[in-house]
Amino acid sequence: MKKEIFGLPMHELQTALAELGFKKFRAKQIYDWLYRKCIFDFAQMTNLGKAERELLQERFSVLPAAVSIVRRLDSSDGLTHKLLLELPDGNAIETVLMHHDYGYSVCVSSQAGCDMHCAFCASGLNGAVRNLTVAEILTQVYVFNAQLYPQQERVSRVVVMGSGEPMLNFDAVFGALQFLHQTDVANISYRNMTVSTCGIVPGIERMQALGLPISLAVSLHAVKPDLRTELMPVNKGYPFPDVIAAAERYARSSGRQVTYEYILLRDMNDSDADAELLAEYLRYKEAGVNLIPVNPIPEKGFYWPDKKRIERFLSILQRHRIHATVRKEMGKDINAACGQLRAAFAEEKYCRK
Ligand code: SAH
Repeated sequence: MKKEIFGLPMHELQTALAELGFKKFRAKQIYDWLYRKCIFDFAQMTNLGKAERELLQERFSVLPAAVSIVRRLDSSDGLTHKLLLELPDGNAIETVLMHHDYGYSVCVSSQAGCDMHCAFCASGLNGAVRNLTVAEILTQVYVFNAQLYPQQERVSRVVVMGSGEPMLNFDAVFGALQFLHQTDVANISYRNMTVSTCGIVPGIERMQALGLPISLAVSLHAVKPDLRTELMPVNKGYPFPDVIAAAERYARSSGRQVTYEYILLRDMNDSDADAELLAEYLRYKEAGVNLIPVNPIPEKGFYWPDKKRIERFLSILQRHRIHATVRKEMGKDINAACGQLRAAFAEEKYCRK
């Protein structure tokens, strides 16, 4: 069985290479190929000896070389690119690159599938759920880094907001973020990383204990207990007022404002009273609100509110001095919302059998 080299900490790589009789500086050279030049094929690592390259080939696998891009979707404005990656075990995961005026940002998945069963989300629709490994999370960033390398560009921001619940795969998610942070890897500052949770309180507390200035986003979506439980069953175990309290402690200790995501669903959570209640919960908190127009799912009765309603909801929050924005929609024409592509892929695969 080959050992996965991608995401291997420097000291572990050095030890593994020393056992094979490599000189110590080889580890740094390999890091440079993998994480700066985005070369995932040992044969192309030309400053290594031929025998060394062959030995590496024999002993190590490099995940980005082993995943296949089974689908690629580019938005019509050319700013959003979505990939469906097939992992060696046949699982498929989605990853999205967004080109903003401040740089490139990648939205990574933390699990293959999702177990949270949010009513409006497609992530849990099809396929088995499993945690992704550190290498699998890093690979989602590096498939794009490899494409950007010839233009001398690279990913400068990572949001863990794809499929899956990151707090249920805590070690791999935060391990991958800490790995990406290293100067000899992707050199991404913690301030440019965001982890989005449906509200797993112990996860928020563990994140606080790490003491890193990573941004926290909370998927709130409703502030009436019954409605939130209906939309997000996780609310039964972790009622949202407890989640807001934990997030507020995180904001105070990290100095990072928490972003509350709120999907606007026509006639469900978009009334003036909902906006007032939301403002009430977030008053005097280190918090901002990101209003997200839902990707419509007509079969479930989820529709987009009209523009006037969105404006009105926003203005109520602003009147209460809550920092709120409407999410700039990117990649709508390529279904860049959670799990939609993966679900379609799983369905097709299933049908083909
Ligand atoms: N489990 C984490 C991260 C994945 S979901 C979390 O819950 O935050 C990432 C975001 O996409 C969440 O805010 C989720 O609510 C949102 N999302 C899911 N389905 C959506 C849809 N149909 N339209 C708009 N946003 C959606």
